[in-house]
Amino acid sequence: MSLTVLMNAGPWLSVPPPGYGGIENIVATLVPELRKLGVRVVLASVETSTLPVDEKISVFPDGQFHALQRPYNQVCGISQAHLNGVVRALHTRDDIDLVHDHVEAVGLATLAAMGPEAPPVLHTLHWDLAKHPELYGNLDGGDRIRVNGVSAAQLARAPRALQDHSVGHVHLSTPLAVDADRRPPAAKGDHVIVLGRVNPGKGQDLAARLAQQVGFPLVLAGPVGPYHRPQDLAAAGDEARQNPDVRFFYEQVAPYLDGDLVRWVGTVAGQERDDLLAGARVALFPLRWEEPGGTAVVESLSLGTPVVAVARGCLPELVEHGRTGLLTTDEEELGDLVMAAGLLEADECRREAAARFTPAVMAERYVGLYERVRQPAAPTLQLA
Ligand code: UDP
Repeated sequence: MSLTVLMNAGPWLSVPPPGYGGIENIVATLVPELRKLGVRVVLASVETSTLPVDEKISVFPDGQFHALQRPYNQVCGISQAHLNGVVRALHTRDDIDLVHDHVEAVGLATLAAMGPEAPPVLHTLHWDLAKHPELYGNLDGGDRIRVNGVSAAQLARAPRALQDHSVGHVHLSTPLAVDADRRPPAAKGDHVIVLGRVNPGKGQDLAARLAQQVGFPLVLAGPVGPYHRPQDLAAAGDEARQNPDVRFFYEQVAPYLDGDLVRWVGTVAGQERDDLLAGARVALFPLRWEEPGGTAVVESLSLGTPVVAVARGCLPELVEHGRTGLLTTDEEELGDLVMAAGLLEADECRREAAARFTPAVMAERYVGLYERVRQPAAPTLQLA
């Protein structure tokens, strides 16, 4: 295929990310598959990105994520400066057939404002679409700007103006899904895991309370605000509590931690993360928000770990109740479901992941969307 895509991953983290980094991980998963299909990829990221691509452009020497702790008026120029570099590149070259943009709000607004001077754009919505109502509710990108979601449930909640630009959804994928059904099964421990940012929406407080009530071992893995290790959070002292996720952790989660039955282990990465997830009896998602894409859900299935979750957001699309997980609309029922999940088979989860959530499946879907977006008046998806 002769197609050059400018993949705009943004200025926040290098690609692949050094640790936590949902969007950058997806870009790092997608790009090699696109290149296998013959797509030329120009990556707009930061200089420290190491992902093999055909060409790189960047404004910042390294990831600017750390700056997000500063007040808005000190950081609002960062994504604008990055987009400014992207727009300059688009103005000075004529080989870009399509921009695949992943930069929250600013990417969409800037590329839409370029009007007919920009190539066709596919902007992937990785977020809760209840955010940015002023931007999403009034979007007019003409027939050049198209968006896609990461689940049908996410798009169904989007404002009408955003839906009018949509070409559908593409579920997230993970390299762990490749040949997931052929890997030898992992030995299971007896722990339940919650893998994700510690945040009210992810519901670690509920998981911790239920673990104490019902009596199952629980591992909470993930950062608390910017703190990845328990010792870093402890060393940060009271100032850290300015961060709402840190306050949530201390006030709602920490009272249930006993260092034995219920533990917070900080961020886990690489093999350690995979082993902890593969060895878990259950991956628990006690959600209090509409999970848009659920990377950790897809990873759990890939590693043969059944999912127990509140049936919100993308969960009913990713998990089949009774086969690859157990879902409920009543959060108080989660404890019982954790105990019942032993009936689910790891092999079913891994087969499902190998069939639906591989990078190749995701890349094929995106190539299909690129073709639609490049049609002069790309038809949008009519959502009910
Ligand atoms: N993650 C990780 N280590 C942790 C916690 C999370 O590597 O300790 C990864 C997790 O495996 C997943 C991503 O962070 O790939 C979280 O993405 P998800 O879509 O589940 O949640 P988000 O944070 O984007 O809402």
